[in-house]
Amino acid sequence: MEISRGPDEVVYVVVVEQNYQLAEFTLIKAIKDMFIARGGSQIGDDAAILDLGDQLLVVSSDLTIEGVHLPAITPSKARTDDFDQGFDLSKITERDFGFKSVTTAISDIAAMGIEPRWVTLSLCGPAGSDLLEVMEGVREACVQFDCDLVGGDLSVSPVLTANVTAIGTCKPNEPVFRNTCSVGDAIWVTGPLGGASCGLRLINKEIEIENDALVGELINRQKRPVPRVKEAVLARLIGASSMIDISDGLATELDHLANGANAGISIEDVPIHDGANIDDALYGGEDYEIIFTLDPNLDPADQFEKAGLRPPIKIGVIVGEPDCRKIRGRDFLVGGFQAKW
Ligand code: ADP
Ligand code: MG
Repeated sequence: MEISRGPDEVVYVVVVEQNYQLAEFTLIKAIKDMFIARGGSQIGDDAAILDLGDQLLVVSSDLTIEGVHLPAITPSKARTDDFDQGFDLSKITERDFGFKSVTTAISDIAAMGIEPRWVTLSLCGPAGSDLLEVMEGVREACVQFDCDLVGGDLSVSPVLTANVTAIGTCKPNEPVFRNTCSVGDAIWVTGPLGGASCGLRLINKEIEIENDALVGELINRQKRPVPRVKEAVLARLIGASSMIDISDGLATELDHLANGANAGISIEDVPIHDGANIDDALYGGEDYEIIFTLDPNLDPADQFEKAGLRPPIKIGVIVGEPDCRKIRGRDFLVGGFQAKW
């Protein structure tokens, strides 16, 4: 552990993990400590909520990097040749990259129960990158989720990289935070999990599945994640007490919910996507389904159905013991994707 002292006499405590690696959540905590005296107390939720008086601004920023958040891209030229022999679904296109860079960013606005309205995009890639094709994917996502691209930046870089800032507005008291659940609240999730992780294993040819339609669906879960904007807004209107989206895996996101409220998690049911397994569902991440908590006397199913949305699935309950992380009475490991340096 290293301790240093900042200019405002703020003490930063940075836990340097084994092998001198600094894990993402440790670094986020350190960044928050560094900026807390200068307004950084917002750091740590899915998006920041900025007070403009009669309105709030909801802002989040996310990176998408080729080879990190998506496997390497097949250049358009090679794909044009492939099309003659039947296009291999497991290949990732520039359009997929553009689409995913936007949808993963707006998912964080949805995770506050708010609709995204605008995005900015900083985009860079190596010589030969087809950035116009990336922009086609960006446009597709913006049209599908009703956002405007309002600015950005361009540069060159060793690998294709996008940073998307997503912005929404709302009224005071509307946003739903990740640390505000109460003991006894039921835990709901907007869809089955693990599809994106299983899709990645298919893309990487680590597994094979006979059913072509299912293979296509799973690969799309990885290439083209769908932010659950309407579902999240409806969950807020029904009275969700806390909310988070699943980028790093169910286990990690549940841990965030519990830690923030000093509560525990007891899960009865993990809904697993067809073709995926429990590890994909718990630790794979990138499903971008929404987890929300709700008064146990409320059942949101009818209202979701009336709105034409897939009904959410109740998976468990918030319990009083802060150390409790259980599935059907057995401890589960808290883990999932974390960047390390
Ligand atoms: P998500 O998976 O929801 O996109 P992360 O787990 O990556 O979010 O980060 C959680 C939160 O930590 C972010 O929403 C943000 O508030 C904060 N955060 C992450 N990286 C930084 C950074 N470089 N500077 C300031 N805040 C950060
Ligand atoms: Mg998030």
